[in-house]
Amino acid sequence: MTETARTDRPEPDVDVVVVGAGIAGLYLVYRLSRAGYRLRVFEAADDLGGTWYWNRYPGARVDVPSFDYMYSFDPDWQRDWQWSEKYARQPEILRYLNYVADKHDLRRHLTFSTRVRQAGWDDDASLWRVRTDRGDDVTARFVVMATGCLSVPKQTEIDGLERFTGEVYFTSRWPHDPVDFTGKRVAVIGTGSSGVQSIPVIAQEARQLVVFQRTPTFSIPAHNGQLSPERLAQFAANEADYRSAARMSPGGIPMERSITPTFSVTETEREQRYERAWEIGELFEAINVYADVMSNPAANHEFAEFFRNKIRAIVDDPQTATDLCPTDYPVATKRPCLDTNYYATYNLPHVRLVNIRKHPIRQVTETGIDTADESFTFDAIVFATGFDAVTGAITAVDIRGRNGLALKDKWANGPQTYLGLTTAGFPNLFLITGPGSPSVLSNMAVSIEQHVDWVLDCLGHLCARGFAVIEPTETAETGWTQHVNDCADITLFPAANSWYMGANVPGKPRVFLPYCAGVDFYRASCDEVVAHDYLGFTLSGPGGTECNDGVVRRLQPDVEMVLNRMAAMNLPTMESMPVEDARAFYNQMSAVRPPGPDVGEIVDGTLPGTSGDLAYRLYRPPTTPGPRPIIVYFHGGGWVVGDAISDDPLCRDLCVRSDAIVISADYRHAPEHRFPAAVDDAMAAVRWVADNAEALDGIPGLLAVCGWNAGGGLAAVVCRLARDMGGPNIIGQALLTPSTDGDMARASFTDNADGYGLTTALVRWLYDHYIDIADRRDPRFAPLQATDLSGLPPAIVVTAEFDPVRDDGDAYAIALEAAGVPTEHVRARGHTHKSVTMVDVAISGAPVRARIAKALRQFFAATRTPEPAA
Ligand SMILES: Cc1cc2nc3c(=O)[nH]c(=O)nc-3n(C[C@H](O)[C@H](O)[C@H](O)COP(=O)(O)OP(=O)(O)OC[C@H]3O[C@@H](n4cnc5c(N)ncnc54)[C@H](O)[C@@H]3O)c2cc1C
Repeated sequence: MTETARTDRPEPDVDVVVVGAGIAGLYLVYRLSRAGYRLRVFEAADDLGGTWYWNRYPGARVDVPSFDYMYSFDPDWQRDWQWSEKYARQPEILRYLNYVADKHDLRRHLTFSTRVRQAGWDDDASLWRVRTDRGDDVTARFVVMATGCLSVPKQTEIDGLERFTGEVYFTSRWPHDPVDFTGKRVAVIGTGSSGVQSIPVIAQEARQLVVFQRTPTFSIPAHNGQLSPERLAQFAANEADYRSAARMSPGGIPMERSITPTFSVTETEREQRYERAWEIGELFEAINVYADVMSNPAANHEFAEFFRNKIRAIVDDPQTATDLCPTDYPVATKRPCLDTNYYATYNLPHVRLVNIRKHPIRQVTETGIDTADESFTFDAIVFATGFDAVTGAITAVDIRGRNGLALKDKWANGPQTYLGLTTAGFPNLFLITGPGSPSVLSNMAVSIEQHVDWVLDCLGHLCARGFAVIEPTETAETGWTQHVNDCADITLFPAANSWYMGANVPGKPRVFLPYCAGVDFYRASCDEVVAHDYLGFTLSGPGGTECNDGVVRRLQPDVEMVLNRMAAMNLPTMESMPVEDARAFYNQMSAVRPPGPDVGEIVDGTLPGTSGDLAYRLYRPPTTPGPRPIIVYFHGGGWVVGDAISDDPLCRDLCVRSDAIVISADYRHAPEHRFPAAVDDAMAAVRWVADNAEALDGIPGLLAVCGWNAGGGLAAVVCRLARDMGGPNIIGQALLTPSTDGDMARASFTDNADGYGLTTALVRWLYDHYIDIADRRDPRFAPLQATDLSGLPPAIVVTAEFDPVRDDGDAYAIALEAAGVPTEHVRARGHTHKSVTMVDVAISGAPVRARIAKALRQFFAATRTPEPAA
């Protein structure tokens, strides 16, 4: 008996009920039994193995290398187990799982042929009541759902199946006795992984094979064969390192995450890289060819075209080749496949492809299948139609949490979990590879072990601290669900109607189910939760209740990756440098950015400032010629660093999105030219642009200002000065994380002092270089200090959650609104002072920039009749 159960409440029958005896269930049994927990394990099948028990179809294989797809807990496995192939077949994996179960005496804990139907949380007794279809009624302190992501076959949607007099098979429920297709006319419906694996093998036996395809698949050749002796030797020599590299990899297989953007290398180099991926025949390797394949539509399109060219080269019949080429979803947004002779199978004379998008299946008849325009006769029909993935097996059980809440109802609009492991309202319930964890996007053997280890550590912690119940908080769960969606939203995954999105099951909510930022980032989150006293969990027991509430991932995922990379570089701080060095450093950092989008034209020039010429760069949109509205842009850099071209990618982006001319105007910098030199120059630039609008091919009167950081402050100041000095007429202002006040007293200077790029120390350094403390309430520096903000042009103010100057910007947006200025206030969640400006680096910033551009367009559209400058 464990400490966790030592309460005044009724003693449960067991400590833990485990549902499922696949890879996850078996590892749970291993860990739980060795830790002394009393357990029951229910498995619906009549033997162990899960996926590898059920999916016995011809050609069924693992699609990550065999020695990656195995347990890592048993260090001496090589003494009595050997993999025969790079990608093991189903019987071999099933044998392996049986070998593990026998070696570690796991079988005695398993109850087969028993399906868990119901699990209800008894709040008074603090235990679960679990019911099975064989009448078991078991109480347990904890329930662990090891029910699998791909264990509930999708219902067939085709009419008339019951009429068919021939043989019917489902790849996911394949008979244990051999199936012989020799001399038979066979139909296969479905071309996902199971179809792609089984079709070439069935074709070898069948007299005739017709494949009915709705959605074509991207597949690469597995190049299966013997395990390479070199790799095996390397693996055997240092298995511990190998396993640990797998745990900290993007997909659960040792591999460096690519950081090279597709179009940063030549076309020839890219072609060679794609060819190499095709030759290696490993899925994770293929998806990792370039850093942006899963986020940049153009990069993905090029890679997809490489695949399509391969298909066209292999398949003889042009129409069949066309039908086999996926065109309506980005590559890898549906699970890609590994195959052996899949495409070449369609060159066999007795194999035919029917594209059911063009020739829909009407019904199954007594003798075969009718499409809209043809009747086929078959001896056997094979359904390879997939699964109700990730959530299907969990919601198939009637799970009731606190107050009788049904999990199915809670998840009616999509699953909400904390870490993909737990869900609020359902205490002491754990989901192995649940929604919101890497699961099906990873090598599942690694992800399963990580989850089971986490659960065991958690139970140990509860026991050690005298707690009996653990449950995530709503805050933590909402934060995690948001993070899972944020991760998906910066990728192309949501663009596909995939089973990852629940799109294959009618009525299933369209939500991206797995966690796509990688096994490494995911593991870091789980570890951080533990390190912060089970952040986001409420732990309770006879000794009391403890909760360190919070959200484990608050930054946008891409922003966090950039910050992590910067931190790893261990760069010196700008404020520790002499100004000249700081400027050189700033320019050096800018040089390695992606360039931003192409614009129609770039013109560099000078304009007259208050004390000599100032450089400017003009960006013209890539649209049809003709006058355009003008945005005068002021760069960031805290009045000390930066220049007219230092925000080049942002200006290009702004130009393209707003379809306006952007003129990035320089201003004099401190400490050589202290306050108010920058303001005077900014004002001079706006006047010059307004006076020369026509010559610049702008539309006179359609003039807005925009700026980031110090430039945002300057843009705000210029609007007020123009109002007070009688012009020029500015019709809108876009302020991006602007600097608007000088006292540095607001909470964001403390909350976000360090760790998010711009630090409070750097802000102070910049202020000190620019302006005397005595002047810091001057509204030409601190627009928030102006006594009257009324009558200013409409504004969009963007503030970033993790920015020292956030609260100053928020206060300014609120002050503008209070003064009656139409103001759109965008709080960029999970962003830093700079991240929204990181074009093509922080993809999550793009929607914010789109809103800025939209606001600017609206400012211009609203000013139909430009007022003459006063
Ligand atoms: C054909 C196929 C090929 C795959 N290939 C790979 C691969 O190459 N690499 C990879 O990483 N992953 C692959 N997967 C995913 C695979 O599911 C996992 O790798 C892994 O096997 C999952 O193990 P599990 O124990 O979590 O779930 P499962 O193996 O699915 O086991 C879950 C078990 O729970 C039982 N169960 C479910 N509900 C109940 C209930 N209410 N009561 C009692 N028992 C229940 C089921 O009968 C099942 O036996 C593949 C999946 C399929 C279908």
